[in-house]
Amino acid sequence: MSSDRRFREPIDLHTHSRVSDGTESPARLVAAAAAAGLGTVALTDHDSTAGWAEATDAARREGVTLIPGMELSTRVDWSSVHLLAYLFDPNNAKLVAETARIREARLHRAEEMVARISRDYDVNWDDVVAQTNPGATVGRPHIADALVARGLAGTRSEAFAGILHWRAGYYQPHYAPDPLMAIELVVTAGGVPVIAHPATVSRADVVLEHRMRDFVEAGLFGLEIDHRENTPEGRVRLQRLADEYGLQLTGSSDYHGEGKPNRLGENTTRPEVLDALIARATGWQPVYPA
Ligand code: AMP
Ligand code: FE
Ligand code: FE
Ligand code: ZN
Repeated sequence: MSSDRRFREPIDLHTHSRVSDGTESPARLVAAAAAAGLGTVALTDHDSTAGWAEATDAARREGVTLIPGMELSTRVDWSSVHLLAYLFDPNNAKLVAETARIREARLHRAEEMVARISRDYDVNWDDVVAQTNPGATVGRPHIADALVARGLAGTRSEAFAGILHWRAGYYQPHYAPDPLMAIELVVTAGGVPVIAHPATVSRADVVLEHRMRDFVEAGLFGLEIDHRENTPEGRVRLQRLADEYGLQLTGSSDYHGEGKPNRLGENTTRPEVLDALIARATGWQPVYPA
Protein backbone atom coordinates (compact mmCIF):
# COMPACT_ATOMS: atom_id res chain seq x y z
CA MET A 1 0.00 0.00 0.00
CA SER A 2 2.73 2.44 0.94
CA SER A 3 4.50 1.93 -2.40
CA ASP A 4 1.80 3.77 -4.36
CA ARG A 5 1.12 6.30 -1.61
CA ARG A 6 0.97 9.77 -3.11
CA PHE A 7 0.74 11.92 0.00
CA ARG A 8 3.35 12.91 2.55
CA GLU A 9 3.33 13.22 6.33
CA PRO A 10 2.62 14.91 8.66
CA ILE A 11 -1.14 14.72 8.11
CA ASP A 12 -3.59 17.17 9.72
CA LEU A 13 -7.24 16.36 8.91
CA HIS A 14 -9.19 19.23 10.52
CA THR A 15 -8.80 22.97 9.77
CA HIS A 16 -11.04 26.01 9.23
CA SER A 17 -10.77 29.04 6.94
CA ARG A 18 -12.76 32.27 6.61
CA VAL A 19 -15.35 30.26 4.67
CA SER A 20 -16.53 29.42 8.18
CA ASP A 21 -14.97 30.55 11.47
CA GLY A 22 -11.24 30.44 10.74
CA THR A 23 -9.41 33.74 10.29
CA GLU A 24 -7.48 33.02 7.05
CA SER A 25 -8.57 32.63 3.44
CA PRO A 26 -8.40 29.03 2.13
CA ALA A 27 -5.28 29.94 0.08
CA ARG A 28 -3.51 31.46 3.09
CA LEU A 29 -4.47 28.48 5.22
CA VAL A 30 -2.93 26.05 2.72
CA ALA A 31 0.20 28.23 2.53
CA ALA A 32 0.37 28.21 6.34
CA ALA A 33 0.08 24.41 6.28
CA ALA A 34 3.02 24.18 3.87
CA ALA A 35 5.03 26.64 5.96
CA ALA A 36 4.30 24.60 9.08
CA GLY A 37 5.85 21.59 7.34
CA LEU A 38 2.66 19.59 6.80
CA GLY A 39 2.63 17.15 3.89
CA THR A 40 -1.17 16.76 3.90
CA VAL A 41 -3.96 19.01 5.14
CA ALA A 42 -7.76 18.70 5.10
CA LEU A 43 -9.93 21.81 4.79
CA THR A 44 -13.03 21.18 6.92
CA ASP A 45 -15.04 24.37 7.15
CA HIS A 46 -18.34 24.17 9.02
CA ASP A 47 -21.27 23.20 6.77
CA SER A 48 -19.67 24.54 3.56
CA THR A 49 -17.49 23.45 0.65
CA ALA A 50 -17.11 27.00 -0.68
CA GLY A 51 -13.37 26.96 0.03
CA TRP A 52 -12.51 23.81 -1.92
CA ALA A 53 -11.69 25.48 -5.26
CA GLU A 54 -9.36 28.11 -3.80
CA ALA A 55 -7.68 25.55 -1.52
CA THR A 56 -7.20 23.19 -4.49
CA ASP A 57 -5.32 25.84 -6.48
CA ALA A 58 -3.23 26.73 -3.44
CA ALA A 59 -2.37 23.08 -2.70
CA ARG A 60 -1.02 22.61 -6.24
CA ARG A 61 1.04 25.80 -5.84
CA GLU A 62 2.35 24.93 -2.39
CA GLY A 63 3.11 21.27 -3.03
CA VAL A 64 0.95 19.86 -0.24
CA THR A 65 -1.76 17.23 -0.56
CA LEU A 66 -5.25 18.58 0.12
CA ILE A 67 -8.08 16.41 1.42
CA PRO A 68 -11.25 18.41 0.69
CA GLY A 69 -13.73 18.05 3.52
CA MET A 70 -16.30 19.68 5.77
CA GLU A 71 -17.37 19.64 9.43
CA LEU A 72 -21.10 19.06 9.51
CA SER A 73 -23.18 20.41 12.38
CA THR A 74 -25.44 17.78 13.93
CA ARG A 75 -27.41 17.76 17.12
CA VAL A 76 -28.63 15.34 19.77
CA ASP A 77 -31.15 16.96 22.11
CA TRP A 78 -29.37 20.11 23.35
CA SER A 79 -25.88 18.95 22.52
CA SER A 80 -24.02 19.84 19.37
CA VAL A 81 -22.14 16.95 17.72
CA HIS A 82 -19.69 17.62 14.89
CA LEU A 83 -19.17 15.20 12.01
CA LEU A 84 -16.09 15.47 9.82
CA ALA A 85 -16.72 14.41 6.23
CA TYR A 86 -14.04 13.81 3.61
CA LEU A 87 -13.85 13.32 -0.15
CA PHE A 88 -17.62 13.42 -0.81
CA ASP A 89 -19.28 14.79 -3.94
CA PRO A 90 -19.77 18.51 -3.16
CA ASN A 91 -22.56 18.68 -5.75
CA ASN A 92 -24.67 15.93 -4.17
CA ALA A 93 -28.15 17.50 -4.15
CA LYS A 94 -29.25 16.21 -0.75
CA LEU A 95 -26.04 17.27 0.96
CA VAL A 96 -26.12 20.69 -0.74
CA ALA A 97 -29.72 21.21 0.42
CA GLU A 98 -29.02 20.10 3.99
CA THR A 99 -25.93 22.28 4.41
CA ALA A 100 -27.86 25.28 3.02
CA ARG A 101 -30.57 24.61 5.60
CA ILE A 102 -28.02 24.45 8.44
CA ARG A 103 -26.27 27.66 7.32
CA GLU A 104 -29.62 29.46 7.16
CA ALA A 105 -30.53 28.23 10.65
CA ARG A 106 -27.10 29.36 11.94
CA LEU A 107 -27.67 32.83 10.48
CA HIS A 108 -31.08 33.27 12.15
CA ARG A 109 -29.75 31.90 15.40
CA ALA A 110 -26.81 34.33 15.37
CA GLU A 111 -29.17 37.25 14.67
CA GLU A 112 -31.35 36.23 17.59
CA MET A 113 -28.38 35.81 19.93
CA VAL A 114 -27.09 39.26 18.98
CA ALA A 115 -30.53 40.79 19.50
CA ARG A 116 -30.53 39.39 23.03
CA ILE A 117 -26.95 40.47 23.75
CA SER A 118 -27.69 43.98 22.43
CA ARG A 119 -30.23 44.53 25.21
CA ASP A 120 -27.36 44.43 27.71
CA TYR A 121 -24.30 45.42 25.65
CA ASP A 122 -23.47 47.99 22.99
CA VAL A 123 -23.15 45.68 20.01
CA ASN A 124 -25.43 45.09 17.02
CA TRP A 125 -25.84 42.91 13.95
CA ASP A 126 -23.84 45.30 11.73
CA ASP A 127 -20.84 44.71 13.99
CA VAL A 128 -21.12 40.97 13.31
CA VAL A 129 -21.55 41.47 9.56
CA ALA A 130 -18.38 43.58 9.59
CA GLN A 131 -16.47 40.59 11.03
CA THR A 132 -17.89 37.98 8.63
CA ASN A 133 -16.75 37.12 5.12
CA PRO A 134 -19.69 37.35 2.68
CA GLY A 135 -21.35 33.94 2.41
CA ALA A 136 -19.44 32.46 5.35
CA THR A 137 -21.06 29.95 7.70
CA VAL A 138 -21.90 32.18 10.67
CA GLY A 139 -21.15 31.07 14.21
CA ARG A 140 -20.46 32.34 17.67
CA PRO A 141 -16.84 33.11 16.68
CA HIS A 142 -18.10 35.95 14.45
CA ILE A 143 -20.15 37.34 17.34
CA ALA A 144 -17.02 36.97 19.48
CA ASP A 145 -15.04 39.05 16.97
CA ALA A 146 -17.72 41.75 17.10
CA LEU A 147 -17.52 41.75 20.92
CA VAL A 148 -13.71 42.07 20.71
CA ALA A 149 -14.01 44.93 18.18
CA ARG A 150 -16.37 46.69 20.59
CA GLY A 151 -13.99 46.19 23.50
CA LEU A 152 -16.46 43.91 25.28
CA ALA A 153 -14.02 40.98 25.30
CA GLY A 154 -10.24 40.72 24.95
CA THR A 155 -10.14 37.67 22.70
CA ARG A 156 -12.42 35.12 21.06
CA SER A 157 -11.70 32.66 23.86
CA GLU A 158 -12.60 35.28 26.47
CA ALA A 159 -15.91 35.95 24.70
CA PHE A 160 -16.62 32.20 24.63
CA ALA A 161 -15.91 31.92 28.34
CA GLY A 162 -18.15 34.93 29.06
CA ILE A 163 -21.00 36.43 27.05
CA LEU A 164 -21.17 33.55 24.54
CA HIS A 165 -21.15 30.76 27.11
CA TRP A 166 -24.51 29.00 27.43
CA ARG A 167 -24.54 29.91 31.12
CA ALA A 168 -24.57 33.64 30.30
CA GLY A 169 -28.15 33.35 29.09
CA TYR A 170 -27.77 34.54 25.50
CA TYR A 171 -26.96 31.15 24.02
CA GLN A 172 -29.36 29.58 21.61
CA PRO A 173 -29.13 26.30 19.68
CA HIS A 174 -29.84 26.07 15.95
CA TYR A 175 -31.36 23.44 13.69
CA ALA A 176 -28.99 20.61 12.79
CA PRO A 177 -29.73 17.06 11.64
CA ASP A 178 -29.37 13.96 13.79
CA PRO A 179 -25.86 12.47 13.48
CA LEU A 180 -27.20 9.23 11.93
CA MET A 181 -28.89 11.23 9.18
CA ALA A 182 -25.68 13.20 8.62
CA ILE A 183 -23.61 10.00 8.37
CA GLU A 184 -26.07 8.61 5.82
CA LEU A 185 -25.94 11.83 3.80
CA VAL A 186 -22.14 11.82 3.69
CA VAL A 187 -21.98 8.14 2.72
CA THR A 188 -24.63 8.64 0.02
CA ALA A 189 -22.45 11.41 -1.41
CA GLY A 190 -19.50 9.01 -1.58
CA GLY A 191 -17.75 10.54 1.42
CA VAL A 192 -16.07 9.26 4.56
CA PRO A 193 -17.50 10.32 7.97
CA VAL A 194 -15.50 10.70 11.20
CA ILE A 195 -16.95 11.99 14.48
CA ALA A 196 -15.04 15.14 15.48
CA HIS A 197 -13.68 15.58 19.03
CA PRO A 198 -16.13 13.03 20.49
CA ALA A 199 -14.83 13.20 24.06
CA THR A 200 -14.59 16.86 25.05
CA VAL A 201 -15.82 17.96 28.46
CA SER A 202 -19.06 19.31 26.99
CA ARG A 203 -19.68 16.19 24.94
CA ALA A 204 -18.33 13.64 27.40
CA ASP A 205 -21.82 12.38 28.14
CA VAL A 206 -22.82 12.48 24.50
CA VAL A 207 -20.32 10.04 23.10
CA LEU A 208 -23.43 8.24 21.96
CA GLU A 209 -22.09 4.82 22.84
CA HIS A 210 -25.54 3.30 22.64
CA ARG A 211 -25.88 4.55 19.05
CA MET A 212 -22.45 3.47 17.82
CA ARG A 213 -23.73 0.24 16.24
CA ASP A 214 -26.21 2.19 14.07
CA PHE A 215 -23.51 4.70 13.13
CA VAL A 216 -21.10 1.97 12.11
CA GLU A 217 -23.74 0.14 10.09
CA ALA A 218 -24.49 3.43 8.30
CA GLY A 219 -20.81 3.72 7.33
CA LEU A 220 -19.04 5.65 10.10
CA PHE A 221 -15.31 5.39 9.37
CA GLY A 222 -13.62 6.72 12.46
CA LEU A 223 -13.31 8.79 15.63
CA GLU A 224 -11.08 11.85 16.06
CA ILE A 225 -9.18 10.73 19.15
CA ASP A 226 -6.15 13.05 19.09
CA HIS A 227 -7.74 16.48 19.53
CA ARG A 228 -6.68 18.90 22.27
CA GLU A 229 -10.18 19.07 23.73
CA ASN A 230 -10.71 15.30 24.22
CA THR A 231 -10.24 14.37 27.89
CA PRO A 232 -7.75 11.64 28.91
CA GLU A 233 -10.57 9.40 30.19
CA GLY A 234 -12.55 10.08 27.03
CA ARG A 235 -9.64 8.95 24.85
CA VAL A 236 -9.51 5.63 26.69
CA ARG A 237 -13.22 5.18 25.93
CA LEU A 238 -12.71 6.10 22.26
CA GLN A 239 -9.88 3.56 21.94
CA ARG A 240 -12.18 0.89 23.39
CA LEU A 241 -15.00 1.84 20.99
CA ALA A 242 -12.62 1.71 18.04
CA ASP A 243 -11.47 -1.78 19.04
CA GLU A 244 -15.04 -2.96 19.57
CA TYR A 245 -16.45 -1.61 16.29
CA GLY A 246 -13.41 -1.72 14.05
CA LEU A 247 -13.25 2.07 13.71
CA GLN A 248 -10.20 4.05 12.61
CA LEU A 249 -8.70 6.73 14.87
CA THR A 250 -7.64 10.13 13.54
CA GLY A 251 -5.82 13.11 15.01
CA SER A 252 -5.87 16.77 14.01
CA SER A 253 -5.40 20.34 15.11
CA ASP A 254 -8.83 21.93 14.48
CA TYR A 255 -6.84 25.01 13.44
CA HIS A 256 -8.85 28.26 13.21
CA GLY A 257 -6.00 30.67 12.34
CA GLU A 258 -5.66 33.39 14.96
CA GLY A 259 -9.15 32.59 16.27
CA LYS A 260 -8.03 29.76 18.56
CA PRO A 261 -4.77 28.68 20.20
CA ASN A 262 -4.73 25.40 18.18
CA ARG A 263 -1.59 25.17 15.98
CA LEU A 264 -1.33 23.34 12.63
CA GLY A 265 0.04 19.82 13.05
CA GLU A 266 -0.27 19.79 16.85
CA ASN A 267 -2.05 16.44 16.40
CA THR A 268 -1.71 14.22 13.35
CA THR A 269 -3.18 11.15 11.67
CA ARG A 270 -1.21 7.99 10.84
CA PRO A 271 -0.62 7.44 7.10
CA GLU A 272 -2.20 3.95 7.22
CA VAL A 273 -5.44 5.58 8.40
CA LEU A 274 -5.38 8.05 5.50
CA ASP A 275 -4.68 5.16 3.09
CA ALA A 276 -7.88 3.48 4.34
CA LEU A 277 -9.85 6.74 4.20
CA ILE A 278 -8.85 7.40 0.59
CA ALA A 279 -9.65 3.78 -0.34
CA ARG A 280 -13.15 4.15 1.15
CA ALA A 281 -14.01 7.41 -0.67
CA THR A 282 -15.89 7.40 -3.97
CA GLY A 283 -17.15 10.99 -4.14
CA TRP A 284 -13.98 13.03 -4.71
CA GLN A 285 -10.21 12.67 -5.03
CA PRO A 286 -7.40 14.11 -2.90
CA VAL A 287 -5.55 16.96 -4.57
CA TYR A 288 -1.99 15.70 -5.00
CA PRO A 289 0.99 17.97 -5.66
CA ALA A 290 1.95 18.12 -9.34
P1 AMP B 1 -21.20 27.65 17.22
O1 AMP B 1 -21.06 26.42 16.34
O2 AMP B 1 -21.67 28.82 16.45
O3 AMP B 1 -22.00 27.38 18.46
O4 AMP B 1 -19.75 28.01 17.71
C1 AMP B 1 -18.88 27.00 18.13
C2 AMP B 1 -17.61 27.08 17.32
O5 AMP B 1 -16.81 28.09 17.87
C3 AMP B 1 -16.81 25.80 17.37
O6 AMP B 1 -16.94 25.07 16.17
C4 AMP B 1 -15.39 26.28 17.50
O7 AMP B 1 -14.78 26.21 16.24
C5 AMP B 1 -15.49 27.70 17.90
N1 AMP B 1 -15.01 27.88 19.26
C6 AMP B 1 -15.39 27.22 20.33
N2 AMP B 1 -14.72 27.64 21.43
C7 AMP B 1 -13.90 28.59 21.03
C8 AMP B 1 -12.95 29.41 21.69
N3 AMP B 1 -12.72 29.32 22.99
N4 AMP B 1 -12.29 30.30 20.98
C9 AMP B 1 -12.52 30.40 19.66
N5 AMP B 1 -13.41 29.64 18.97
C10 AMP B 1 -14.10 28.75 19.65
FE1 FE C 1 -15.17 26.18 14.38
FE1 FE D 1 -15.94 21.04 15.88
ZN1 ZN E 1 -13.61 22.18 13.80
